[in-house]
Amino acid sequence: MLTPEQLARLRTMINDRYEALSAEIHQDAARSRDETYGELAGPVADSGDEATADLISDLDSAELNRDLGEFRQLEAAQKRLADGSYGPCVDCGSEIAFERLLVQPAALRCLDCQRIHERTHAHPPESKL
Ligand SMILES: [Zn+2]
Repeated sequence: MLTPEQLARLRTMINDRYEALSAEIHQDAARSRDETYGELAGPVADSGDEATADLISDLDSAELNRDLGEFRQLEAAQKRLADGSYGPCVDCGSEIAFERLLVQPAALRCLDCQRIHERTHAHPPESKL
């Protein structure tokens, strides 16, 4: 089991990363939108109140998608921290090592299950049809 101190440390890491990533996504989205629509639509209105998901919903950027994927994982980790389900591996139920969580606080799986998961899902074979 993770100690309260370890959980507090991981929660801080997750929240810090969440904040940083949120700012990064907003910047990328604003820049991407400026590049796409800037000359046609002129300066965009201040969008400070827009939800991040709305802001980027119509944008297509590999970097943004990657950031958004991590953003969603951090969101999910915050939920698990809030409802007390943070810690165990979702596949085998054993505790994820604290050392692993320090590197990847949003990790869902222990190292063994993550390897299996990546081998199974990371590169789906393309259909030959
Ligand atoms: Zn596992």
